[in-house]
Amino acid sequence: MQTSPSVLILGGTTEAYDLAAALVARGGLRVVTSFAGRTKSPRLPAGEWRSGGFGGAQGLAEYLRAETFDAVIDATHPFAAAMAFNAAEACAQENTALLRLERAPWRAVPGDRWTEVDTLDEAAAILRRDAKRVLMAVGRQELAPFVTLDEIWFLIRSVEAPEPLPAFKQYEFLLSRGPFDVASERELLRDKRIDTIVCKNSGGTATQAKLVAARELGIPVAMKRRPPRPDLPIAYTIDDAIAWLKLR
Ligand code: NAP
Repeated sequence: MQTSPSVLILGGTTEAYDLAAALVARGGLRVVTSFAGRTKSPRLPAGEWRSGGFGGAQGLAEYLRAETFDAVIDATHPFAAAMAFNAAEACAQENTALLRLERAPWRAVPGDRWTEVDTLDEAAAILRRDAKRVLMAVGRQELAPFVTLDEIWFLIRSVEAPEPLPAFKQYEFLLSRGPFDVASERELLRDKRIDTIVCKNSGGTATQAKLVAARELGIPVAMKRRPPRPDLPIAYTIDDAIAWLKLR
């Protein structure tokens, strides 16, 4: 990348940290990672960083202009829906090259019993019909569509406890952070007699084991699809993102 020495990474994901580390290690680039500012003490990336929203697409465009970035890599989470569109608008306005970097989505393979849904309300409708004991692996902020399902027992797994506590009639919390392995996921699903899993198609390896265990045990999965994205170049690996930068 001879003519583009400055890159902004829209972060908040493992991929963003890995990309920053790889670019800084190569040298010859100014690398700035941007965080939304939701985590109180985020792990710091290699290179420079900043934190907090830009104030919409216009704010991001102004920041790109002021800091004279040559390229932006949107490495926000697959379920972070707004930032990708802001980045597309701002980069188009400033004529700044933009790439989306994201982990590949999981794909169903023979033996999987997935129902893919666009909203968690659809997942709740599936549970109402078919489930009695459910592993919820969707994140603590997204439990609202399920609280009225009084006949169902929920195992709610999250990294931090939900605040406020949702008004589930029958539930247990499981505070834990991945990565999880197949053996422990199999044991959990058996021990808790789980008959359905609800999750989001995050991709990656850290939380994939539950899907393998579910396949082995024949357990159905309600899988929330990723939200729509602007039509942009996309890389699924750090190496591909670096290769794209060299073309700028
Ligand atoms: P979002 O819907 O895409 O973004 C909402 C707003 O947060 C944006 O309009 C922007 O504010 C600000 N923002 C988001 N990412 C930013 C970044 N990297 N740098 C500066 N501002 C950013 O995202 P979200 O779902 O609220 O997620 C927030 C952050 O958490 C993202 O960075 C994402 O990578 C990370 N994350 C999200 C999830 C998830 O499931 N949603 C999971 C893990 C990590 P302004 O309009 O003011 O610029």
